[in-house]
Amino acid sequence: MQGVGFRPFVYNLAVGLGIHGWVCNTAAGVDIEVDGEKTLLERFVIDLESKAPPLSNIDEISIDWIPVQDFTEFTIVHSQDDPNAFIPISPDVSICEDCLYELFDPQDRRYRYPFINCTNCGPRFTIIKEIPYDRLFTTMAGFPLCPECEAEYTDPTNRRFHAQPVACETCGPHVWLEFSGSPEGIYEHNEAIVAARQYLKEGKIIAIKGLGGFHLACDATNSAAVHELRKRKLRVDKPFALMCPNIHAIRQYCDLTQLEEATISRRERPIVVVPQTQNTTISELVAPGQTTLGVMLPYTPLHALLLEPDTGFPDALVMTSGNLSEEPLAYSNQEARERLSSLADMFLLHNRDIYIRCDDTVARVIQDEDQPRVSILRRSRGFAPNPIRLEWKMPPILATGAEIKNTFCLTKDHYAFLSHHIGDMENFETLAAFEHGVEHYQTLFRTSPEYLAFDLHPNYLSTRYAQRLAQEKSLPAFGIQHHHAHIAACMADNHLGKDTTVIGLSFDGTGYGTDGTIWGGEVFLATYQNFKREFHLKTIPLPGGDAAIKEPWRIALTWLYESGIEWTPDLAPARYINTDQQQMLRQQIQSGTNAPLTSSMGRLFDGVAALVGVRQTVNYEAQAAIELEALVDPAERARYEFQITGSVIDPAPMFEQIVADLSHQIPIQQISAKFHNTIAEIALQTCLAIRSKTELNLVALSGGVWQNSVLLQTTIKKLRENSFSVYYHDQVPTNDGGLSLGQAVIAYHTIID
Ligand code: ZN
Ligand code: ZN
Ligand code: FE
Repeated sequence: MQGVGFRPFVYNLAVGLGIHGWVCNTAAGVDIEVDGEKTLLERFVIDLESKAPPLSNIDEISIDWIPVQDFTEFTIVHSQDDPNAFIPISPDVSICEDCLYELFDPQDRRYRYPFINCTNCGPRFTIIKEIPYDRLFTTMAGFPLCPECEAEYTDPTNRRFHAQPVACETCGPHVWLEFSGSPEGIYEHNEAIVAARQYLKEGKIIAIKGLGGFHLACDATNSAAVHELRKRKLRVDKPFALMCPNIHAIRQYCDLTQLEEATISRRERPIVVVPQTQNTTISELVAPGQTTLGVMLPYTPLHALLLEPDTGFPDALVMTSGNLSEEPLAYSNQEARERLSSLADMFLLHNRDIYIRCDDTVARVIQDEDQPRVSILRRSRGFAPNPIRLEWKMPPILATGAEIKNTFCLTKDHYAFLSHHIGDMENFETLAAFEHGVEHYQTLFRTSPEYLAFDLHPNYLSTRYAQRLAQEKSLPAFGIQHHHAHIAACMADNHLGKDTTVIGLSFDGTGYGTDGTIWGGEVFLATYQNFKREFHLKTIPLPGGDAAIKEPWRIALTWLYESGIEWTPDLAPARYINTDQQQMLRQQIQSGTNAPLTSSMGRLFDGVAALVGVRQTVNYEAQAAIELEALVDPAERARYEFQITGSVIDPAPMFEQIVADLSHQIPIQQISAKFHNTIAEIALQTCLAIRSKTELNLVALSGGVWQNSVLLQTTIKKLRENSFSVYYHDQVPTNDGGLSLGQAVIAYHTIID
């Protein structure tokens, strides 16, 4: 990887051991030739691997013994730029310990300088315009180095040797604070940061320019401020992420396991979703209806200054993406002023441009009884554009993903470059961000797609984009079934071999089926090339289409209707609407008008949540299901009945039992637990049925529904108790954010067949 200090590391290692030769970047990685005593050379090779700089990544070392060249010194040989060479680019990395120390050291010349960085940290992906990775091709081009920075930059023994974004107060970018609507800095440099903290303390909302875009920040313990932010952002109750100065501060608000602490502290600095401690000073409006909080640590020096501990200022800030709901993140100063003026009271800005926007990554820890595991829910800043390494040498394929939580994936050789989070491709702005992203990846990785893969849904903007490109450039294009892509993504994420067959449980919200209905409760026999739909959740009408997703009462009543259960007024969804509306709904179900058919598992969760009275309408996708999960009583082991007839899984008996439980006033916590146990049992029974027929023992779990940790953990346990090998997601999101990887590997395996 470029710009991670590998050559100077090799230089210092060789000089330290007193061996001579040279090091040079090549298209394939790094070439090193050295003369010396055999034992020293062996030491050198061991240290190469064990002491490599934190951001470097050694896939493989190969060694040839050749005659002595009688070198007299060790040199860094300048590399020639090979037009076809492809050198991975580092993601953005949080401030390192050394820089953090200098930031708060009054003796240091970068004391309180918000753009301090070195070879081991700082911005990368978001400031690179072109390769090779060189200051001239980054947004730092406009800041010529001062003599002092220059000296550090050119000294191979210095931590800032060839650190492209290196800067100081004299030569680098600076910050300022301005009020909304008056683009004039009122405070500059350190004063801007001090003033921003004061305003945050007073309850103001500030738009803060970060690494990959803007955040909107306010004091997380101030309910009035959080309420105001929700009102302005038109975000009713979707949870906000928090930033705290250190792990110690986070522990005041959350109950953390060791792995959760380690994940929060990773240099990628993801937002980690962790259990919230009850009765803390954090406003209840930060994550209404949830038992978890998304927390992160400061990752830029500017964040570290804003959250400097023990100074009497707020030690928990809401840091939510700087956009209006549904729009992509704002990333230039001008764009922020235009789009965020009505949202923020003021702006903390700087003049280091962001070239490509990149949202925060979201992760959580799965309490797997075998071994707890980190699972990525949104793979973006800190991870993108790191590729997923696969076993196959692939031609350039561009997979365009789905709609919600879109990412795209570009393959080259052994690598799958899964893009940063693009967002919900429902509007022009997001499509533009997608197109810019695709072009940028092609430039960065010097590749141009020869094949295209896309979702079968004809109306997705990502599908239309792929079809247009296929036509313009006459490229072969593959339409990939949504849930097959989910399972293939899970298989690739777990590095399963090319001839593997799995039982794929694709439990999901929405995805286009090969029969034109909406699928989502699918049990497949699947390989990378093919799938067979062995079982699926009963197909029901979704009266109102997308309206049903926002109004789960529609789904609850449809399931009751389908299960032959009357809409009696004691049931929450029936009570929620009047008799005219009931009549209309019944007609829609019976006639099928504006009622697309679906076997979606996500919708079943929505429907059950509405039935038990969690909520009848939602403000964000899967909200009802998430709140239903939060209610589960973990002590409850019982479950409900269901029926499997042929390939159809019919939950009618479960609905009868839930209605009975409701009439007996069984607590909702128990009903919720029994429902989750039922779905896990459905997973088990379908897998057992397939195993008895095929002797297959591998199960892959993928699709958005598996974001439900209770369901995931219960299912894994049940399957393992029955000796199944269970694969679930790791580096790649289980939701549609991982879909493009699945599309790409399916296209690849279809091509080579
Ligand atoms: Zn550093
Ligand atoms: Zn300087
Ligand atoms: Fe999906």
